[in-house]
Amino acid sequence: MQRHADFAEFTEVTPTAQIAQSRHGWRAKCLQRLIRMELPVPRTVALPFEVVRAIAAGQMPDIEGLAAVFGEDFVVSIRSSAEKPEWGGPGTILNVGMNDRVHARLIGTHGQEAADALYLNFVQTYATQVARLDPDMFHDEPGPGALKAALATYRAETDDDFPQSATRQLIEVLRSMARGWEGTTARLLRQAKGAPAEAALGLVVQRMALGIGPGLSGSGTMQFVDSVTGLPQITGRFRGQSQGRREEVGALYLTRDPRGASLEEADPDLFAQLCDFGARCRVRLREEMQIEFTIESGQLAVIDAVKVQRSARAAVRIAVALAEDGIIGREDALLRIEPRALTELLHYQVDPRGARDPLGKGIAASPGAATGRIVFTSAEAQASAARDEACILVRRETVPEDVRGMHAAVAVLTERGGMTSHAAVIARGLGLPCIVGCADLSINTRERTLRAPDGRVFRAGDTITVDGTNGEVLAGVADMMEPALDGEFRTLLHWADTVRDIGVRANADTPDDARTARMFEAEGIGLARTEHMFFDEDRLTVMREMIFADTAPDRRAALDRLLPMQRADFIRLFEIMAGQPVCIRLFDPPLHEFLPHDRDGMRELAEALDRPLSEVTRRCDALSEFNPMLGMRGVRLGVTVPEIYDMQARAIFEAAIEASRHGAPVVPEVMIPLVSAAREVEIVKTRIDAVASAVKTEMKADLTYRLGVMVETPRAALRAGEIAPHVEFLSFGTNDLTQMTYGLSRDDAGRFMSIYVSQGVYEEDPFHRLDVEGVGELLLMGAKRGREARPGLRISVCGEHGGNPESIAFCRAAGFDYVSCSPFRVPVARLAAAHFALLAPRGERAGEGVQKS
Ligand code: PEP
Ligand code: MG
Repeated sequence: MQRHADFAEFTEVTPTAQIAQSRHGWRAKCLQRLIRMELPVPRTVALPFEVVRAIAAGQMPDIEGLAAVFGEDFVVSIRSSAEKPEWGGPGTILNVGMNDRVHARLIGTHGQEAADALYLNFVQTYATQVARLDPDMFHDEPGPGALKAALATYRAETDDDFPQSATRQLIEVLRSMARGWEGTTARLLRQAKGAPAEAALGLVVQRMALGIGPGLSGSGTMQFVDSVTGLPQITGRFRGQSQGRREEVGALYLTRDPRGASLEEADPDLFAQLCDFGARCRVRLREEMQIEFTIESGQLAVIDAVKVQRSARAAVRIAVALAEDGIIGREDALLRIEPRALTELLHYQVDPRGARDPLGKGIAASPGAATGRIVFTSAEAQASAARDEACILVRRETVPEDVRGMHAAVAVLTERGGMTSHAAVIARGLGLPCIVGCADLSINTRERTLRAPDGRVFRAGDTITVDGTNGEVLAGVADMMEPALDGEFRTLLHWADTVRDIGVRANADTPDDARTARMFEAEGIGLARTEHMFFDEDRLTVMREMIFADTAPDRRAALDRLLPMQRADFIRLFEIMAGQPVCIRLFDPPLHEFLPHDRDGMRELAEALDRPLSEVTRRCDALSEFNPMLGMRGVRLGVTVPEIYDMQARAIFEAAIEASRHGAPVVPEVMIPLVSAAREVEIVKTRIDAVASAVKTEMKADLTYRLGVMVETPRAALRAGEIAPHVEFLSFGTNDLTQMTYGLSRDDAGRFMSIYVSQGVYEEDPFHRLDVEGVGELLLMGAKRGREARPGLRISVCGEHGGNPESIAFCRAAGFDYVSCSPFRVPVARLAAAHFALLAPRGERAGEGVQKS
């Protein structure tokens, strides 16, 4: 290797040495910080990235010089030190330098067994990790003869004696670790954790603190917060005489414990010293650290410190506590929490410490976990709920009639469907754990069985657990962790609100949804889908009468019966939202969704309507469409059956006036779905304005409302310039817009989406993460044309993408006013929006092309 005067092939880690994380890695830097804090760290040397890379290529640095740092007969450990801890690295190798001579010396100072155990440990590690011999031949436990046997096996396998030269051992270990880092598996593993392809490795060589001695000796780890809850608590382990003497004292509890002896009692001073180290690390390293230490006859050595492993809830508590103690800034605390990780806090989760018995895997469509008995129909789910029995609704796929069953269930599992299928959207709205597209499991609704790929068959009434966070279905009951909507969670989100610069609303259809939206502090409702309001038993019948009405007056008569119910729905929503904006979408689905699909249902309907079965069947058939999602739905119903929107507009306006009389003033927002032509908007607007005037006169009250269009057909985006002058806002319905832009059914795409994503046809499921290139272009074009035609036009996204962090970044960069997403995604959206505001402050927003006014 070429040497320059200013080139340090290795550097002893001292308080003033030139150690940089970008050149020597995180561990070397961390150890230097510990040394600066005057913690008792054994002598340590750091090898920089370029030297380790050269070692892998066959060029050794000055090994004699390196060995000289540690003196005669050294024993050292070698640890990896990549730039970031999460990038990993080859495992630590202990006791390098052990040979016959050191062994003999250790027998004198520490006794035969301890010396044997140390030597054996090194021979085993060296044989398997450096010489790459078969681990099965080197697994003997320490004991009489084990060392001899290991040395003999080594000789037999390599035709050579175990290396006695400490420098040769050093060379071989360094080479093996340097090459291990360059291996394909290691590279793929670290790249999956975000490491760049060219990420390098540093190495840290440290004098071994053996943790063996006549007095209190051993090794352990100690941390000062609980990894699962994040609450202050001393945890860790301490193993006395850990390298194997007969009079081993075994494990000690760290703190006083009724179950047995503790380090705190065995040596209170030393224990206090460790606690002091922990407290100082927290302040100086601005992090909760786990300290790795050894004790040699009462003498403490700190050999390493790593960031405490933590669950999402612990991460939030730790970050908020550090900021509240003034150790880090609030912005730093916000950036330390990955927004998606917050979903873990909102729901019950399968406890990672418990056992899991997986049956199959599908798409994790709505997070959280729940255990319950299998039911195969909505009616069974309702019956189960009536008995107060937790149930899991298992369907091939769900239809609107299943909504009541979903309300009654604790989780939903479907064989078909994707991220925006009916089951997925409703479950996210309800905060129900849900797995869709679980093709691993075959569901036989007739036999009422669920068959797992391993042949196990589950029947109605059997217990399973749905883990909607990772998409796994588990057999039986799983251990659970409770949601953690505690003070720290709220504090963090309030901090997020102070920095974010895009609004976050919730999609909420029911009073329960609205309450959840309030709980998660959404800034109003961005989408209230009204169709779900018609599926209650009493309303469904009236709805069906309306559909079957032969004349407009008959239709109006049926709608008049629905009006008070609908008005009551809206009053409740307005009351719960207490003056915050509520955007109500007019009726959207095809009418036939309200009709029965089987013969029994039609017979019941014929009875209820007092009409012949043949007529009911004929009318149902007549309403069915080849392609209902592209058929008679949304504004097309508003134009052709205008009485429905008239009734809804009246219900909204009467409710707004009524709610304003008793509470905060309400300015309702009315949104027209599935628009594709400006004329549709003109026609509907004329009628809605007329209803508003009539209501104002009848109720002798003033009323302000805003009319808007849901942009969910490509044509509406293209013609936004013509549509905008009629309305005050445009809200992109990116579920339908994605479906129509791709020509891809949102309910069926789940069947092949994983193949498309795995083969790189799509980078991601476009129903999950906004396709910024195609659908995104329509969004930008629609927003630009809309705002050019009507300055000040408010623009938002209310499709499922509104809760997806990457999609929020896009909307913010495009200058949109707000995103609206399922209530349970609101916290993630609030934090993600804050991250983007911190990382790309206003004025630096990429692709800012849409002027707001
Ligand atoms: C959409 O299409 O994006 C949307 C929000 O409406 P829905 O999911 O009800 O079709
Ligand atoms: Mg839609």
